[in-house]
Amino acid sequence: MFILNTWSTISKAIKTADRVNPTVVIEALGVYRVAGRNNTEFTVACYKDEEGKRVVDCGCVAGTKLHTPCFHAAAAIKAHVSMVTWSQPVF
Ligand SMILES: [Zn+2]
Repeated sequence: MFILNTWSTISKAIKTADRVNPTVVIEALGVYRVAGRNNTEFTVACYKDEEGKRVVDCGCVAGTKLHTPCFHAAAAIKAHVSMVTWSQPVF
């Protein structure tokens, strides 16, 4: 789990996600299943906490033990941004 403060927080992870291009399955708004390497799959949750901070919670080692942005989280964030954008009226 990590707090997404700015895009620079995940810029390296986004580059990796762009290279790996993992499959992202949308479970619900804010809940995504992202393919990892070696036939693994992780659930990533994107939500705002009670203080309004943007929390990204991935079930992989980086997410649970190191609390650093991983490419699963970056891929899920990209899907989440699209989902939030589509769920709001744009005009
Ligand atoms: Zn991860």
